[in-house]
Amino acid sequence: MNKKTNQPAEVAPDLAEAAELGESPTAAAGATPVVAIVGRPNVGKSTLFNRLVGKRIALVEDLPGVTRDRNYAHAEWDGRNFTLVDTGGFWTDTDDALLNRVRDQARLAIDEAQVVILVVDGDAGPTSGDLEIAALLRKGGKPTFLAVNKIDSFKREQEGFLSDFYRLGFEHVFPVSAEHARGVSEMMDALVKYLPVQPPPEKVEEDVCRIAIVGRPNVGKSTLINKLLGEERMVASDVPGTTTDSVDARLEHKGTKYVLTDTAGIRRKRSIAARIEQFSVVRAFNAMDSADVVLLLLDATEPAVDQDARIAALALEKGKALVVLVNKWDKLPQAKADEFRQELDYKMPFIGWAPILFGSALTGSKVFEALRKCGEVFEQYRARVPTPLVNKLMQRIEDEHPAPRAQGGFPVRIFYIAQVGTRPPTFSLSTNRPDGVTDDYKRFIVNRMRDAFGLRVPIRLLFKKKSKRQFVPKKDSDR
Ligand code: GDP
Ligand code: GDP
Repeated sequence: MNKKTNQPAEVAPDLAEAAELGESPTAAAGATPVVAIVGRPNVGKSTLFNRLVGKRIALVEDLPGVTRDRNYAHAEWDGRNFTLVDTGGFWTDTDDALLNRVRDQARLAIDEAQVVILVVDGDAGPTSGDLEIAALLRKGGKPTFLAVNKIDSFKREQEGFLSDFYRLGFEHVFPVSAEHARGVSEMMDALVKYLPVQPPPEKVEEDVCRIAIVGRPNVGKSTLINKLLGEERMVASDVPGTTTDSVDARLEHKGTKYVLTDTAGIRRKRSIAARIEQFSVVRAFNAMDSADVVLLLLDATEPAVDQDARIAALALEKGKALVVLVNKWDKLPQAKADEFRQELDYKMPFIGWAPILFGSALTGSKVFEALRKCGEVFEQYRARVPTPLVNKLMQRIEDEHPAPRAQGGFPVRIFYIAQVGTRPPTFSLSTNRPDGVTDDYKRFIVNRMRDAFGLRVPIRLLFKKKSKRQFVPKKDSDR
């Protein structure tokens, strides 16, 4: 399975099944626009965020703490997709003075968002903080929607005090109640008109490996991109002024074609986003969508932190292949890779399957090896395992380690397994008790598959109910 091939991966015959995963089996093109929510503390930003995102935030139970407390999410309104960001969530109460915080929020929104929602408290009237942030936003020139929140009733709306808020100088002023869902639809109907219409998804170029280079600020992302492309190519590939500022850079190395996706944000160095650790997760969140492989940079001189784990968890959640490059290794001449590996195993046990390299974007050490490793896992990512092979393995797994019995002592049997999708490899398993298969056993199957077929990528399993009698296995000669 590790063999290098330039053949395009077979297209999954049963895309509908793969679509059950909630994710398109092929990469989507283009960066998603960002809508930023800004405003003073306690005006209702996170209430509005939750209202707009609804139940769409999928919590991954396996990754405690890592994907909780999210202040960004995919959202959709009237057929348009965007990433909603609650910028208030990036600051804690212990952070510096309120005014600085509010200023940073506004700047972040102006730099990074296509549309801004400024939330103010309708009960409190415009405060000096509101005026300050409004002034910055007006200067920034991004379309801004003023959500006058906590207008819980029509009576309240009639009281005529909205005019106070027109002083903030915005054309789009909406009385809303985030808590009671009043006025929110009207505001969103008007807002989405300002989002760029997404171009139809590009046809996926089957044998181009699309890589998202992600990591915390200052970890070395731009240095790495520079090293891979050379300065001239960087400038040449820069096409400013596109609606979502997404810039892809292409390169070819040893016969394999690569695209580094959405590198624009990485290079816009002066922006405040480059300082705000938490925003690196939002960037990664957006950049990953159009990638096959996530190349996560870690800083050798700083032990893996929460932000690193969050990004790694996102890659897994989105079902992307992952390669980890521990960068700035040149700074630690005496360092031991094994120790770092152990530390990573402890802090991010859920990505134990991902290849790890130790190198330096500055000196160029392991830089192209990391690229080749991305190409290698890309082949695994779109690989197809022949059905007889995977059934033989399943048979062996069941013989050696049968599934634990379900509640009531019923045996759990897996009759048949077949790959139904790629990117990531996705398998459908026919079983008498889909609910009876424990998470431990699922992980066990996945790990055995990784070992047997050399798949160092996420693997997805779909369990389907079949009774033994219903099930008529195809003969090997039919396949
Ligand atoms: P944030 O700090 O801006 O994110 O504000 P929160 O969303 O945490 O809300 C602050 C407080 O305002 C909470 O107690 C919310 O329940 C309350 N709140 C939010 N939206 C509304 C609303 O539409 N009406 C009323 N009456 N209270 C609200
Ligand atoms: P980004 O914010 O992730 O794009 O990080 P940059 O590429 O801007 O790098 C931040 C700083 O780290 C710069 O001063 C780089 O020169 C430095 N840097 C990047 N990679 C390496 C490396 O491998 N070794 C050392 N010693 N410094 C590096």
